[in-house]
Amino acid sequence: MKIGRRWLLAMCPVALVAGFASLPLNAQTVAPSSPPAAIAIAAPAQSAPQQAYTLPPEKLAKAIALSRIRITLGIAGAVWGIVFLWLLLAARAWVAIERWTQRISGRRWVQGLEFFAAFFLVTALAGLPLDATAHHFERAYGISVQAWGSWLGDQAKALGLTLLVGAPILLLFHWIVRRWPRRYWLAAWVVTLPILAFSIFLEPLFEPIFFHFEPLQKNHAALVSELEKVAARTGTNIPPSRMVLMKASVKTNGLNAYVSGLGATKRIVVWDTTAGRIPDDEVLFIFGHESGHYVLHHIAKGFVGSAVGLLFVYWACAAFAAWLVKRFGARWIDPKPEDLIHAEPALASRTGFVVLLFAISIAGFLTEPVVNAVSRHFEHQADVYGQEAIHGIVADPEKTAVAAFNDLGAAWLEDPHPNPFLVFWLYDHPSIQQRAGFAAHYDPWAIGGHGEFFKR
Ligand SMILES: [Zn+2]
Repeated sequence: MKIGRRWLLAMCPVALVAGFASLPLNAQTVAPSSPPAAIAIAAPAQSAPQQAYTLPPEKLAKAIALSRIRITLGIAGAVWGIVFLWLLLAARAWVAIERWTQRISGRRWVQGLEFFAAFFLVTALAGLPLDATAHHFERAYGISVQAWGSWLGDQAKALGLTLLVGAPILLLFHWIVRRWPRRYWLAAWVVTLPILAFSIFLEPLFEPIFFHFEPLQKNHAALVSELEKVAARTGTNIPPSRMVLMKASVKTNGLNAYVSGLGATKRIVVWDTTAGRIPDDEVLFIFGHESGHYVLHHIAKGFVGSAVGLLFVYWACAAFAAWLVKRFGARWIDPKPEDLIHAEPALASRTGFVVLLFAISIAGFLTEPVVNAVSRHFEHQADVYGQEAIHGIVADPEKTAVAAFNDLGAAWLEDPHPNPFLVFWLYDHPSIQQRAGFAAHYDPWAIGGHGEFFKR
């Protein structure tokens, strides 16, 4: 994951409605999991011989310190998001907001839009101090070079998009809850699927809101012709017109390349912090990795997995929310007493719907290790694929892959010895050490064999 994607995820209403939505999006990036979601605390440095990923001493100390900060902020942010919703429910703030919307307009749908816009605004403001703290440290450690004004501008843009896209979607989901009070979770699930698919398809259209793009061909013609060799070997149908350079350097020193979009919007994006700054061979490896996600149908598999998981999550959240409403509804929602005999009428109120969102945010936190385990599996497969894809094109695929991981790790200040439990819970990619360690010893051609995905 990298910065632009984080914003897109933050604004993606489906990601909020469905804690699972990050899977198909995350599965595409090659970069180490970036702040604040998935970085590790330092385990005591072990004197293991032959580490494939190493940092010079001064960078190592920085990486360990920054990892601790990222993990603390990441966990604090997740917990705070849940606690904040609960606090506002307990303080009956949503009841007050609902009454306020009723005073402004008599139309139900206008009230709904106001209420959900207020919901996004209030939660965004609540998250701002932690996000700003994270940005402060990313700047202090030289990862981010984005000035505060520009950063605030991006936050405002992300919020604007959320209001524009998210509020109508929550209005739709709330209508579903009122329309089918007993089986709304099933109807909501059916509606989530096309929204999820569209969010992947439309992602490239949102990216230029945060970054400038230009054809990769413009300043990196040699790299493009090398990339075409890999594209030919992998059979991915990505012509040079679909290879673009993202001007990331105005905001970050981090490295990345990724594939985004589906079908007509599919394209490879290489950051300008990557093309020309690390050897072209390493960019080819990253491109091979990205191609792997497509060739091995990780997007489609992630989508199906998310769909199956979401059905269960929605069902469980409906049951949990019904329990919450029966237990706390009299205090949180202010319903008529007879509405609490069954949970459905109370849940159908707008404040009741926030109880449902509260349940979903808890589910999102608890299911993160499952989603991440699947993601790490896909990422490992893509690493294998990427190394095989550049076989015969670069001189030494093993060395190239190991060097690429070292450059990625150094650019993002990735901890070489992350705590295994934190990797299990929070990492959507294997640790850089695991990835580099595998790459260093993966050479099926040495014994006359062939790759897992390529027969030559
Ligand atoms: Zn990947």
